[in-house]
Amino acid sequence: MSASHRKYDIAVIGAGACGMTAAIAASRQGANVCLIESGSRVGTKILKTGNGRCNLSHTPIEGSEYRGSGDGRIGTFLKTFGVDETLEFFGSIGLITREKDGYIYPYSEMASSVLDVLRFAVKDSGADVLCSVKVTDIIRSDDGYNLQCESDPDEKGKTVNSAYHASKVILCTGGCADPATGSDGSGIRIAQKLGLKVVKPLPALVKVTVTNSRDLAVCAGVRCKGIVSVYMGDGGSDMSSGTEAVASDRGEIQFTKDGLSGIPIFNVSRYISRALDGSVRVRVKLDLCPEMSADELVSFIMGYIRNGCSAGDISTEEALAGIMNKKINTYILKSTGIRPSTPVRDIGRDRIVKYADAVKMLEFDINGTYGFEQAQVTSGGVDMCEVDDNLQSVKYPGLYLAGELLDVDGPCGGYNLQWAWTSGYLAGKSAAAK
Ligand SMILES: Cc1cc2nc3c(=O)[nH]c(=O)nc-3n(C[C@H](O)[C@H](O)[C@H](O)COP(=O)(O)OP(=O)(O)OC[C@H]3O[C@@H](n4cnc5c(N)ncnc54)[C@H](O)[C@@H]3O)c2cc1C
Repeated sequence: MSASHRKYDIAVIGAGACGMTAAIAASRQGANVCLIESGSRVGTKILKTGNGRCNLSHTPIEGSEYRGSGDGRIGTFLKTFGVDETLEFFGSIGLITREKDGYIYPYSEMASSVLDVLRFAVKDSGADVLCSVKVTDIIRSDDGYNLQCESDPDEKGKTVNSAYHASKVILCTGGCADPATGSDGSGIRIAQKLGLKVVKPLPALVKVTVTNSRDLAVCAGVRCKGIVSVYMGDGGSDMSSGTEAVASDRGEIQFTKDGLSGIPIFNVSRYISRALDGSVRVRVKLDLCPEMSADELVSFIMGYIRNGCSAGDISTEEALAGIMNKKINTYILKSTGIRPSTPVRDIGRDRIVKYADAVKMLEFDINGTYGFEQAQVTSGGVDMCEVDDNLQSVKYPGLYLAGELLDVDGPCGGYNLQWAWTSGYLAGKSAAAK
């Protein structure tokens, strides 16, 4: 076991999107900075973002779109360092961007460009980058903080302990989503040990599983534009159609072999995770034809059956081929008890009403999510009540907290990386201010 005691003005813990931005911002103010990363490389997660294209921000972006204990405060942070300032920052380190329908990407449409400019800017800033060093404890001292760290085990399974001292610390170790990228929740546990309030971390922006998955398997792979609404009830509630939806979103829904995915599902999944964690029943209702009312759908189908199928010989399944994806029709006909082979001349209005109602309100009881392994972000983390408007701990002067580690989560579309850039930059700049 060897120990080293290096001293820095600022130690940034976690070299993700947030930590690299914080290190650059702090170094630019003239601080002597070290960036400590448990993984063997910096910014691993950035490479996976936006399906390898890195949707790094969104325009416009509203603070009110974020959830968590920062509700109401995120807009203030974005006013100081929002989309314009972020693009200016990236411009200053050599990245140009492009925007499509509000989604902002690097011009190259390669996440590696974002990681590269950050890596080179960190190098250029003079900050020391310490990889394969995991911080296990932060201990307050008279003149700052001591960091207890351990390295990855070597080939003989031995770890090397090391210690660093910094006048100020920025803790930005991410949440628990996609732990393979290094965000294993260890930073949240360190914060907890320091006595900071933590909202239980749960998976968000994640696929969900349904109870009747055997029947749904027929739809695996289907994508369908629609509206997702989430209803909740305690065990006794029937979650009838009169109940108000807790959350709702519109977009392309994807059916998997055992559940539901796609951006609108991701965007409501934080509510589902929280409800299931509290043993609250969750039901999702899908409107797979938002452009038409159920009555309009029935009139259209009945009109087609009356006027378009003169002999009425075709089956119900065939008559509905132009309404929904074939696999969705198979599922709906089965779940509503309508025989697909019934000749349309025998189908009758009642069964078409049943079919149209199912298209407009396809219901699934949700029994789980795909967990942190498949989640894109963490709902929960260090409660925002623990930081002031400079992201400094209210209990520990000189300790800053930023990024996904905090209880802030946004929807798909660049919101979460924007929070990482915003909070990282502000924490870095504030920590380095004399
Ligand atoms: C597959 C996927 C796709 C995504 N796509 C998008 C997208 O397109 N747009 C978007 O806005 N958001 C996206 N996100 C979310 C976004 O990537 C994160 O919200 C953001 O990267 C969080 O940044 P962070 O720096 O706070 O945390 P992280 O990126 O998690 O970085 C934390 C770093 O700290 C290190 N660390 C952890 N513990 C310790 C420790 N004890 N000591 C030292 N180091 C430690 C970790 O190894 C990691 O490198 C995506 C996420 C995933 C998983």
